[in-house]
Amino acid sequence: MTDFLKEIADKISNQHVLDAMKRIDRHAFVPELMQNFATRDTALPIECEQTISQPYIVALMSEALLAHHPHKILEIGTGSGYQAAILACLVDEVYSIERHELLHTQAKKRLQQLGFSNIHLKLGDGWQGWQENAPYDGIIITAAAPEMPTDLLAQLAVNGVMIVPLGTDKGGQKLKKIVKKSETDYSEEDLLDVRFVPFVRDN
Ligand code: SAH
Repeated sequence: MTDFLKEIADKISNQHVLDAMKRIDRHAFVPELMQNFATRDTALPIECEQTISQPYIVALMSEALLAHHPHKILEIGTGSGYQAAILACLVDEVYSIERHELLHTQAKKRLQQLGFSNIHLKLGDGWQGWQENAPYDGIIITAAAPEMPTDLLAQLAVNGVMIVPLGTDKGGQKLKKIVKKSETDYSEEDLLDVRFVPFVRDN
């Protein structure tokens, strides 16, 4: 058992999530210089001054999504592709958007080499979502949003769930779970305090 698997085993109750975390080798998503730390339960730096999230947070966000039995998920912030790979073991289709071309290209190559055929990657601005494949049963944002991304809520199916870190570096960030009760009605729940890189607005 690797280090982070021991750490998260008693904090995550969804066995499918734990199985996926066991199956996907995080070394494949971590830069050369960080290989020795790949099994640690910490976020690590990746290219373009971004981060691969802490495994516990990846597991927790996946578990929160899975509680709503999604088939089709949209991720904002592909980064290394690790969170997308975990989700792709758990649901039918994963769509993921990244704004850095290098990260997008690397993740694409990596996920292809690992044999994933149910992950669809797009280079672009996550604030606009991916309308062509909407609605999504679940949306996961892996960067901190300074404000609620309402255009993305519009791409969520009724009964769908969005997991989003809301806030800023200075003011603090809360991981939130939003459930779309109807076209106009949402519920909101705080999951925990987190620290993500910013969900950048390009204009
Ligand atoms: N899910 C990733 C973690 C990535 S960190 C993983 O498993 O490795 C957050 C990512 O969000 C970064 O790669 C960053 O470039 C991306 N990001 C930030 N703002 C964005 C935006 N407006 N559109 C798309 N991607 C964005």
